[in-house]
Amino acid sequence: MKNPNRNRLVMFALIIGGLLIAGISGVIYGVEPIPPLFIVGAVIAFGGITFGVATVRCPYCHKLLHLKGLTRDSHCPNCGKKLE
Ligand SMILES: [Zn+2]
Repeated sequence: MKNPNRNRLVMFALIIGGLLIAGISGVIYGVEPIPPLFIVGAVIAFGGITFGVATVRCPYCHKLLHLKGLTRDSHCPNCGKKLE
C-alpha cells in the first residue's frame, strides 16, 4: 500500500472493472429498472476513485500525485524524493 504507482494501477483496475460490470449488466438486463449489478459496478468504480485519491500519494510528504495516465512517477513533483 506504500507504492503509489501500484496503487494507481489498482485504482484503474477497480474503475475499469466496475464500469465493465455496470456496462455488461446494462446490456444483459437493460437499464429500466436499474439492475442491482449495475449499482454494484458503479459502487466499485467510485470505490476505485476513492481508493486512488486516498492512496496515490507520495509516501514521504503524502501529497496527492496525479491520477491520470498510466505513466509512472519516478520522483515526487512536490518534495522531489524518489518513488518506489
Ligand atoms: Zn513527496
